[in-house]
Amino acid sequence: MAEREELTWELFGTAGRELAEAIADSGFEPDLILSVARGGLFVAGALGYALDVKNLHVMNVEFYTGVDERLDLPVMLPPVPNAVDLTGARVLIADDVADTGATLKLVRDFCADHVAEVRCAVVYEKPRSEVRCEYVWRHTDKWINFPWSSLPPVVRRSGQVLDA
Ligand code: 5GP
Repeated sequence: MAEREELTWELFGTAGRELAEAIADSGFEPDLILSVARGGLFVAGALGYALDVKNLHVMNVEFYTGVDERLDLPVMLPPVPNAVDLTGARVLIADDVADTGATLKLVRDFCADHVAEVRCAVVYEKPRSEVRCEYVWRHTDKWINFPWSSLPPVVRRSGQVLDA
């Protein structure tokens, strides 16, 4: 098996703190943080506390089905954030990794029509990403094991339906 990048919970604590410091040092003061679920929820939570931002939103995007296995395109799952909530805001998009960058491009383009400014923060960015994030903790071209998804689910659920 190819070598992997391993992020532990402890290292994630450091990553969140250092990302927040880079954002603060840049002078960017987001009005809200938009997390890309599910991995981005952890990043958004850490940044929300460290940057003292209480306004957190979630966008659900489905793309990966396995290690380096993807759908043809990333798809937004309902509920999609209300564009009115984003209008005129300085938005920080938080995600775990920009791999191909397709997910972040979808979310950034969705925001771009409504918001005053949008920037992206990720723990990892891979060289092939079509989005260059403003804030990156580490660069890698390996598959990353994140602490929140490295163990199998306690239960397997199939046929989940989300309300629109
Ligand atoms: P992208 O659209 O940039 O190709 O991928 C975005 C999403 O795919 C990430 O938020 C993450 O959920 C998943 N993903 C992409 N690369 C990796 C990886 O190396 N490790 C893990 N665990 N998930 C990944």
